[in-house]
Amino acid sequence: MKAIKEIINEGLQRQRRNNITFLTGAGISSASGIPTYRGVDGIWIKGTKFYKPESFGTFMHFHHHPKEVWQYTFFRKKMFAEATPNSAHYDLVDIEKLLQERFHLITQNIDYLHQRAGSKNIYEIHGNLREMRCSDECSKAVYSMPEEIPLKAHDEDLTSDEMGLLVCPKCGEITRPNILWFDECYNERNFKLDTTLRIAKNTSLLMILGSSGATNLPNKLVQQTLRYGGFVIDVNLEDNMFTENFKDKKNYHSYRATVSEFLKVFNEELERYETA
Ligand SMILES: [Zn+2]
Repeated sequence: MKAIKEIINEGLQRQRRNNITFLTGAGISSASGIPTYRGVDGIWIKGTKFYKPESFGTFMHFHHHPKEVWQYTFFRKKMFAEATPNSAHYDLVDIEKLLQERFHLITQNIDYLHQRAGSKNIYEIHGNLREMRCSDECSKAVYSMPEEIPLKAHDEDLTSDEMGLLVCPKCGEITRPNILWFDECYNERNFKLDTTLRIAKNTSLLMILGSSGATNLPNKLVQQTLRYGGFVIDVNLEDNMFTENFKDKKNYHSYRATVSEFLKVFNEELERYETA
């Protein structure tokens, strides 16, 4: 098996299909104090006390409890706003400066920490908490969440005036956060499905940081990069869905390290490549 440095180096050298792509998940933000969804301390559970993410984070649940989901949304926004980016977020900003247009950052996170650190070329495949859209999908319009609504503590409800700001201006139906729920499908319009698959196709080196591969599109991205001859380095401390799905593929490498350990190695190779 090739050493990790060799793989990074070979990926950086490639001239065809030469995107260098990072795929990040909740694990990259845990050092910022944001709990991962699926851990024991998962924020869905913490935020709502009694629901599992798979049932709380669904359109079906929103349909029956829109107010509760909106209150929870403003609670999460508060949690994200109070967190600060960590060294891994900042390392990716530095890497982008060196790689420029070759650099792509695909994130499953909706915490906005990559943007706050300074990353530019970001694709948020699970949506974001800055926008909302009609829950009835009466149009394709996406609206900014009203800034007049203050962020909420865990047990703080939205007032009826505040709820009044969360209606669709076109049809009067309640709006919803522009994020992807567990019972919904990816698409290009809100989640950059086609764009990210095209990026993955043209990627010589795809690095996975802090994702367990439990959702569909990240797996498709890995598949796509491998199919077109790129390398995939999955940085993880234990087996996950990616290892399960791709461990037998020649160009898939599961690298046992923390994100910061890996980024140190990556930066050394990048520096060597830049000065060569
Ligand atoms: Zn509407």
